[in-house]
Amino acid sequence: MAKIIRTQRAKTAGVRSLPKKAAKAKVKTGTKAGAIVKSKANATVARMAPRPKVAKAPRPWSADEVREAFTRFQKANPEPRGELEHLNPFTLLVAVVLSAQATDAGVNKATRTLFEVADTPEKMIALGEKRLQDYIKTIGLYRTKAKNVIALSEKLIRDFGGEVPRTRAEIESLPGAGRKTANVVLNMAYGEHTLAVDTHVFRVGNRTGLAPGKTPLEVELGLEKVIPAEFMLHAHHWLILHGRYTCLARKPRCEVCLINDLCRWPEKTV
Ligand code: SF4
Repeated sequence: MAKIIRTQRAKTAGVRSLPKKAAKAKVKTGTKAGAIVKSKANATVARMAPRPKVAKAPRPWSADEVREAFTRFQKANPEPRGELEHLNPFTLLVAVVLSAQATDAGVNKATRTLFEVADTPEKMIALGEKRLQDYIKTIGLYRTKAKNVIALSEKLIRDFGGEVPRTRAEIESLPGAGRKTANVVLNMAYGEHTLAVDTHVFRVGNRTGLAPGKTPLEVELGLEKVIPAEFMLHAHHWLILHGRYTCLARKPRCEVCLINDLCRWPEKTV
């Protein structure tokens, strides 16, 4: 309380010490943050409120720069592989559904034994929801995921002859599968030029300025627009691996980054 009274007194004293007209001017205009009021006696009264930072949009990458970045990724890792273990399109689909909000390593640990007994929709249904839960109980949200895996197995048999379909809309119609799942399956199982945006790709797309976007879909469409067709098959994995092992969320390893000269992130450390 004492501090508040002293501050108020000091403010009042400041106004009084100005000539009458100048004091009036201060009361009129000097109350806005950051306003500077000059009295006739040339006294400057300033409130040093920090100006809000206006984030500048990064300079877009040129086509040559994008080509250069992906040429480097390709040279460093010509055949990048996803880290989710699977045996066929069905087990890939199941692994991706199980991987929502879970790590690939955690999913692999559970699916290694699961896929030994259930690598087709028919076998998954025969296993049943309860026993499936036992196999995957180390994975977050396992009850919901078990329900979805049984339901999607049933739908695959009922509507798609037991095969994983080849279109995004059809895969998205399966319980537990969204756009990201569809993109991963289409890319890894069927070689389509789709680009799944997970947390790593989202971060890399935004940080580097390659494809800034507020949503995964915006980033996905932005990346599709700038990445040359010849790199699209592996672009998803290069970007995921880059985000997972180099452009880390908390402490990006800019000093060993292959594209650090091209990256637009103002906070990069090189
Ligand atoms: S320079 Fe740093 S921030 Fe930019 S992509 Fe590389 S690791 Fe990420």
